[in-house]
Amino acid sequence: MEDAGADWIHLDVMDFHFVPNLTVGPMVAASLRKETSLPIDAHLMVTDPVGLARPFAEAGADWITFHVEAVEDPVRAAREIGAMGVKVGVSLKPGTPLEALEPCLAEVELVLVMSVEPGFGGQKWMGETLEKARALKKRGWEGLVAMDGGVGEDNAERIAEGGVDVLVAGSAVFGAPDPAGAVARLGELGRRGAARRPSHWPRPLKK
Ligand code: ZN
Repeated sequence: MEDAGADWIHLDVMDFHFVPNLTVGPMVAASLRKETSLPIDAHLMVTDPVGLARPFAEAGADWITFHVEAVEDPVRAAREIGAMGVKVGVSLKPGTPLEALEPCLAEVELVLVMSVEPGFGGQKWMGETLEKARALKKRGWEGLVAMDGGVGEDNAERIAEGGVDVLVAGSAVFGAPDPAGAVARLGELGRRGAARRPSHWPRPLKK
């Protein structure tokens, strides 16, 4: 499979309950695993992320990202998923405050900030969500910060400067006439933005 030069594969998993759309299951992760050695992050936009995490972990996902809104006890969810031998990320919708993640920040290695309402691709970027990334860096949190939703060449540099280490792009890549070129340009914009961050912010951990 042609990976177009990306660093990660991000799989949007929707169950038609947590969000009003239905996408891929673990079999797609298993097929991708055979084709690429890139890290696969399964972004579980589902009501039972812990239950679905296991088949994704067994399918070869490297990262499992669950939604804080979907679980009663995010600390327990993070620990249970981590025990499956994967790296754990937590995500939050645009309307969910960062405080909701507070208890589980020590249990995860990635925070995925949703910059659109989860459910559909091609939506407009909600710029105010960047404040969450900035706040995580300002407080010295050392995990990776990712942003998902409406990320493209027009805002990638600003997003990276604001503290986002991992740019998740859908339409900006798959809708481009030259996806590999789009990935390369996003990577360059990301590096340029990251270089302008305050020097006292924690540097992103190795993936
Ligand atoms: Zn996603």
